[in-house]
Amino acid sequence: MGKGTLVAKLRERVSCLGLTVSATTREPREGETDGVSYYFLDDAEFDRRVAAGEFLEWAWVHAHRYGTLRSEVERVLAGGESVVLEIDVQGGLAVRSVMPDAVLVFVEPPSMAELERRLRGRGTEDEEQVGLRLDNAAAEMAHAADYDVRIVNDDLERACRELEDVIHTYEMDGGPSEDVRDQARD
Ligand code: 5GP
Repeated sequence: MGKGTLVAKLRERVSCLGLTVSATTREPREGETDGVSYYFLDDAEFDRRVAAGEFLEWAWVHAHRYGTLRSEVERVLAGGESVVLEIDVQGGLAVRSVMPDAVLVFVEPPSMAELERRLRGRGTEDEEQVGLRLDNAAAEMAHAADYDVRIVNDDLERACRELEDVIHTYEMDGGPSEDVRDQARD
């Protein structure tokens, strides 16, 4: 069970949370839909959007580019929801620098062995990608201490309850504040 499952469960339980659709240059996996899973962009289109300032943040992750579009954040906020970004550590820290009120939750696997088991079990990545993703996960762990909260993703039910507590502690269940709306537009 990965971060996506955890966030989906959280959204079933807590209203007022909206997910953005990120843009990426990686190829779609089987079953992924453009505009739903991601906006799948080629390099030239990604470059164009970077140059046009359309990203709140973007980063190289596992040898591809991924980024959060400002328009997506605005779409969720316009719907009166608080924004959940499921992004890597570089992205998380970049968002914090432009949105200091952002709450950074580090979702960590129970162990590297378990992460490897999950990655292989999913069967969506080739050997090179599995190796890359494991190396990157180890590097990301070094930033866990920079985050506001750490949650170990071993038991879905417990991890989800901890995330709910975070939402209530930071009072994110009443929708976003005006400050956050302004920052997304800058
Ligand atoms: P995947 O290729 O498995 O869909 O995603 C790989 C990783 O990319 C995810 O674990 C997530 O951390 C990261 N990611 C997804 N979307 C974004 C984004 O918009 N920005 C950044 N910085 N990372 C992202």
